[in-house]
Amino acid sequence: MLKDDEHVCCICGKRFKGYGNNPELIKNEGVCCDECNKKVIEQRLQMEEIKKIIESW
Ligand SMILES: [Zn+2]
Repeated sequence: MLKDDEHVCCICGKRFKGYGNNPELIKNEGVCCDECNKKVIEQRLQMEEIKKIIESW
């Protein structure tokens, strides 16, 4: 059983404590741990870069 402040990361599947992070771009539901959130942020930044490139054409 998960405790109140425990979540299962929807990306790596590990249990973690705390609120969790929005895994948007990688997953559409659930929460992800801080470790995976770094990947999500990286992905988000890459998307921003791609957008900039497309818009500059
Ligand atoms: Zn994770």
